[in-house]
Amino acid sequence: MPGMRKGIGVAPGVAVGKAYCIHEVFVKANGKKLSQEEVPAELARYEKAVKKALADLRALARKVSSQVGAEQAAIFQSHQAILRDPAFGTKIRDGISQRREPAEAALHQVLNEYASLFARTKDAYLKERLSDVRDVILRLSEHLSPLLSVEDQTSGPLVLVARELVPSQVAALGRRELAGIVTQGGGATSHAAILARGRGIPAVAGVAGILRHVTNGDTIVVDGRNGHVIVNPDSETESAYRKLQREFFDLKDSLAENRDQPALTADGRSIERLANINGQDDARAAIAMGASGVGLFRTEYLFLAHPSVPDEEEQLAAYRQIIAASPAGQVTIRTLDLGGDKTIPYLGHDREANPFMGWRSIRLSFEHPEFFMTQISAILRAGAEQPGEGRQVRLLFPMITTLEEMRRVRSMVHRAQRRLHSEGRAVGDVPIGLMVEVPAAAISIRSLLTVVDFVSIGSNDLVQYLMAADRDNPKVSHLCQPLSPAVLRVLAKVIDACREAQKPVTLCGEMAGQPRAFVLLYAMGLRSFSMSPAFIPTIKELASHLTEERTGKIYRHAMKLKTTGHVLRYMSEQLDQLAPNLKLMNSA
Ligand code: PEP
Ligand code: MG
Repeated sequence: MPGMRKGIGVAPGVAVGKAYCIHEVFVKANGKKLSQEEVPAELARYEKAVKKALADLRALARKVSSQVGAEQAAIFQSHQAILRDPAFGTKIRDGISQRREPAEAALHQVLNEYASLFARTKDAYLKERLSDVRDVILRLSEHLSPLLSVEDQTSGPLVLVARELVPSQVAALGRRELAGIVTQGGGATSHAAILARGRGIPAVAGVAGILRHVTNGDTIVVDGRNGHVIVNPDSETESAYRKLQREFFDLKDSLAENRDQPALTADGRSIERLANINGQDDARAAIAMGASGVGLFRTEYLFLAHPSVPDEEEQLAAYRQIIAASPAGQVTIRTLDLGGDKTIPYLGHDREANPFMGWRSIRLSFEHPEFFMTQISAILRAGAEQPGEGRQVRLLFPMITTLEEMRRVRSMVHRAQRRLHSEGRAVGDVPIGLMVEVPAAAISIRSLLTVVDFVSIGSNDLVQYLMAADRDNPKVSHLCQPLSPAVLRVLAKVIDACREAQKPVTLCGEMAGQPRAFVLLYAMGLRSFSMSPAFIPTIKELASHLTEERTGKIYRHAMKLKTTGHVLRYMSEQLDQLAPNLKLMNSA
């Protein structure tokens, strides 16, 4: 089909809308020239943005210095130095006054100049400075034209097209009605995809070169089921997709009507359907979708969205609000999981060769013990407040690899409890759990179970580490597959071990909300699932078609299959028979 491009369907559904392209930074270098009369106002607009950016950076440096350390705050001093550097400012002012470029275009030009300059040097330190320049330019351009001003430019639903979306950008989109998301990079479990799914927005990732083929205002179709993206479809194709889009919305609405029903299988077994949330909006969505609790609150979004660093009282207030906004039931709060594709500059800035295998998550938290203790204390305090009948706060630690790490975590929790006690504060009974997302933890699960109260399987990371295939890299997405026979075997072992040890186990990776995977996990004996709120109604509907006998048969056959392709095909066939009405809700 003309104009059709292929990527990976990462959030189900179909959308048709007008393209809005975000290039690497939010710079609209659209070739427009200023008239001579417009130059002074443009220069003033630029100076105003510089002032605001400097004020941000000063506030950040102060707060990070007092709460994390002077060393970590240094990065914001160097960003201020770049902004004050006369050479930097002159380049941009020249762009505006001599080349008559809008400030955004002048920034773009300067970024390109620095990029080619740094490309010629072999000095790793200097190369690293490019990312500082980029950060400064991004900060300036956000002050010049906040992303939300997109609203004024194009009416009707938008399809966002980007090289890569970083979580803070998605958060910045606020409540703007987005019809769909298309990215050049990324994969099914990239955090941008997770955020899209959380909002129920159809999304396709890994569409090579898409930004070269789309311009703002093009009509674009996003088919999150099979990863198809069609740019400027002919009128027949467009109306066929618009019809599918309406059907998708109708199905979503009708499924959401089951939200007050208990989640039961056809033979009457109950299923715990929990929500993965990143903030208060998601907590509300979790209630609207009929979640029975929160299985994963990713606290890093609190830090990513914060203008500086939240201290213990601010964190406590945020946790209280999240808990109050969440469905009654458990609220599992995960400590900071930064690093990999989610970074905040004050907790380590050096670029690593392998960020996903490096200094991320709990490893980074151990490196900043006071900072980590503050978070643990705030969560324990929130948990001690008995925020409502039937509510229980649980404390979850990400990326645990060894028994020593889990012991260290426990002793930090005890220390925080003693400290709170000595301050005369209430210390609640907060269960402690670990995420199984590193293969070593999955293999040693029996010994880890002796030191934890519960387990949560983080299949997004577990799959990428088991298959040695980056969850964000579309080139290896054929390997990063939760339904590969190797992954299924490991999952079955972990679930079995938890059952034997009588420790509660949940799976909170994206596969919990994927119909084909759900059927197999259910057959393995898993009864607690935590997923993007938008998936809950579909999974509840699917569960109502299952029986132990039927899923047992499907599982035994699936486990005999030798390749991922065979498992996927077989499970698609089974799903079509089990619940044909859910076809529109499938994705990668
Ligand atoms: C996971 O790894 O499965 C998980 C739920 O954590 P995150 O997606 O935040 O890494
Ligand atoms: Mg993870």
